[in-house]
Amino acid sequence: MPPITNHLPTADLQALDAAHHMHPFTTNDDLGKKGARIITRAKGIYLTDSEGNEILDAMAGLWCVNLGYGREEMGKVAARQMNELPYYNTFFQTTHVPAIALAKELADLAPGDLNHVFFAGSGSEANDTNLRMVRTYWAQKGKPEKSHIISRKNAYHGSSVGSASLGGMTPMHEQGGLPIPGIHHIGQPDWYAEGGDQSPEEFGLARARELEEKILELGADKVAAFIGEPVQGAGGVVIPPSTYWPEIQRICEKHDILLIADEVICGFGRTGNWFGSQTMGITPHIMTIAKGLSSGYAPIGGSIVCDEVAEVINACEFNHGYTYSGHPVCAAVALENLRIMQEENIIDHVRDVAAPALKEALEKLGEHPLVGGVNVSGLMASLPLTPHKESRAKFATDGGVAGYTCREHCFANNLVMRHVGDRMIISPPLIITPEEIKIFAERATKALDATYADLKDKDLLKAAS
Ligand SMILES: *Cc1c(COP(=O)(O)O)cnc(C)c1O
Repeated sequence: MPPITNHLPTADLQALDAAHHMHPFTTNDDLGKKGARIITRAKGIYLTDSEGNEILDAMAGLWCVNLGYGREEMGKVAARQMNELPYYNTFFQTTHVPAIALAKELADLAPGDLNHVFFAGSGSEANDTNLRMVRTYWAQKGKPEKSHIISRKNAYHGSSVGSASLGGMTPMHEQGGLPIPGIHHIGQPDWYAEGGDQSPEEFGLARARELEEKILELGADKVAAFIGEPVQGAGGVVIPPSTYWPEIQRICEKHDILLIADEVICGFGRTGNWFGSQTMGITPHIMTIAKGLSSGYAPIGGSIVCDEVAEVINACEFNHGYTYSGHPVCAAVALENLRIMQEENIIDHVRDVAAPALKEALEKLGEHPLVGGVNVSGLMASLPLTPHKESRAKFATDGGVAGYTCREHCFANNLVMRHVGDRMIISPPLIITPEEIKIFAERATKALDATYADLKDKDLLKAAS
């Protein structure tokens, strides 16, 4: 198919965008003055913008385009499904083939007895489902007061009222009266930023034990569930020390608390296994999925639920669901995504080829004077920037200035790396090859050099005291 090139000039599109389009997580007035970058097409790991720049997408869109862009099979499946059955609901004693087939496939792929799927349109919706499902589970078992949910500070679980309350992002809680009642946030296992003089192992245990303290404070008979991302994504790719997750699992079991693993980013190969829970050695009761489920080609999410929880929920009418739960086109696209992942052995590629190549490249980048460390699990990583390597110090200037500067230099070098505060985030499509990782590293090095020079010029290389 020929590329779509007959669009308006970039400046006109930008003016229309500024006039009518409200961007998420954006100060739209500032963006309007600057002009949004317009992405017009994409293939493999490269985006093309309206000026013809070819940009290496080291973020896989928003952590989701795992198969890379431009897979024609996906478009064909979507078109076929649209013609055959574009929509039907699953509320009123009806179902359809794509939802059945996808639920069965997910039950096969998920570990242990995670055998049941409740579909949603996104990760946020799926976490809203989880919130209501775990509370309903305990209520059905005669314990309606076992309803509190424990999460972590700096966690990301979505942007709806329920899921943003589960999340631990302060700037989100500050708008719109969040969090809703009954949700509590303990410390995150971020050794790089908060570990101080403790070893990662000691720190991991200490942070896990905050869960037990919180359970004892609230009373175990009041706590329904703990939710966590196996590796925090939007919080800055926080890879917990090895001691953390086994201790969390132990504490949940001891106090009879359900464990929800938010696999929206980690699921479907990102950490080198099908699920991040496998990488971290845990067995959750519920997994949240979205993003990589369809490689971002169609909006779909869901909850994969264990036998024990499904048995209780299935015995009552769970008054919950979305018009697009199990949407046939999205489900068909997700199935095709999973089929291709298996046909092309994407998990093996991540584990044996791409992840080792990325780790090597990042370790070299880690030698840069501006980089304080390397956080990496499979193909998700972050490089924290620092004015003082030895002490992992923060910048004296506002948090995020250095990260934003680096992000701008990345774009100038045709590379997308997102920044979370002063951390640069890497989460490329899973199909990335070692040759492409070399190109990524070259561009990243140039961007880091330019950032360093820039910060030095502006006298911003000072450490916070
Ligand atoms: C992106 C994300 C979500 C929210 O998913 P949406 O599809 O944007 O609603 C939830 N949890 C995690 C871990 C995420 O990264």
